[in-house]
Amino acid sequence: MQFIDLISQKNRIRASLLQRLEAIVDHGQYIMGPEVLELEKQLAAYVGTKHCVACSSGTDALLMPLMAKGVGPGDAVLTTPFTFVATAEVVSLVGATPVFVDVEAGTFNIDPAKIPAAVARAKAQGLDPKALIPVDLFGLPADYARLEKVAADEGLWILEDACQGFGGTFAGKRAGSFGLVGATSFFPAKPLGCYGDGGAVFTDDDELDSLLRSVRVHGQGDGDDKYQNVRIGINGRLDSMQAAVLLEKLTIFDSELVDRQRVADAYSSRLKHRLAVPEVPEGYTSCWAQYSVLASSTEERTAIMGALQQAGIPSVIYYRIPLHLQKAYAGLGGKQGDFPVSEEFSSRVFSLPMHPYLKEEEISTICDAILHA
Ligand SMILES: *Cc1c(COP(=O)(O)O)cnc(C)c1O
Repeated sequence: MQFIDLISQKNRIRASLLQRLEAIVDHGQYIMGPEVLELEKQLAAYVGTKHCVACSSGTDALLMPLMAKGVGPGDAVLTTPFTFVATAEVVSLVGATPVFVDVEAGTFNIDPAKIPAAVARAKAQGLDPKALIPVDLFGLPADYARLEKVAADEGLWILEDACQGFGGTFAGKRAGSFGLVGATSFFPAKPLGCYGDGGAVFTDDDELDSLLRSVRVHGQGDGDDKYQNVRIGINGRLDSMQAAVLLEKLTIFDSELVDRQRVADAYSSRLKHRLAVPEVPEGYTSCWAQYSVLASSTEERTAIMGALQQAGIPSVIYYRIPLHLQKAYAGLGGKQGDFPVSEEFSSRVFSLPMHPYLKEEEISTICDAILHA
């Protein structure tokens, strides 16, 4: 059994994708070709933002807005320690300091109530709090109604880490469209993935859009200034073949979301008496990047994951070590007990196979293995 099945999906799009790839081989605009422009148009329309800037990875999609806004040494950026390392890594890459805020029991997402204290902590360390990076963890958008309010009160702008959230919604708006700017990833295992690395940034802000386009290509100037490097940027371009893969996958993405929801519903109805299953609060939909559950203890998690492995079923722990306890962040002085909810999740969480092509029999096999563990 596969944790994520990309082969069944490939079979659905193979013929039309090969046509697109062949066209690219022949037209020769291999990087930032017409497919990339078409993709940016379609993605902006899908997410519901004025602008979309396609780029080379989710990490670069998070990095570019920080560079464009001039975040740097002495600045603090708030985010959660219960996420993939890239969320905080980009803050360190621009020379700013990540300041962690614990997550909420229930949703795995940043706890808006704990933000004012984190801002005060950052100021007490002599830092200037600038921005907030909520993460749409496992596919569920964070609580943007409360986050936008607290961010405004505290003078922070929001960079949405929608690297797992693309396709999820809150209050009728799609992930990627919250805050000043949103970032997503098209790593192959994400809900919408290409066949390599890719990402995108979303915003309604015209000025930020042109800054992002400049940062994406080594800080190049606009129009007549094109051959001037007017700021420090990166090589953050997307190639045309990855855009072609994404254009094909977008045509089946909504039907895949329906199937992801089918799988999640089947898991939850069978497992809810055995494990803490994921909560999707009223007004939200998840794109189910991961289906993550909580065992009652580390020992129980080990036993269940062992039983799954015996039955030939893959399962994975996201995330085994919260970022404040990672060696790379030892310099921030984080210690056990600082973020108890994140630490508790790290000790009990694990994720089950999740993809749109999971069959009813496979779901039964997985649930039986868990219920009998
Ligand atoms: C995958 C991921 C990223 C980074 O995306 P890449 O495309 O791998 O660079 C950032 N944040 C989160 C939450 C992710 O899951």
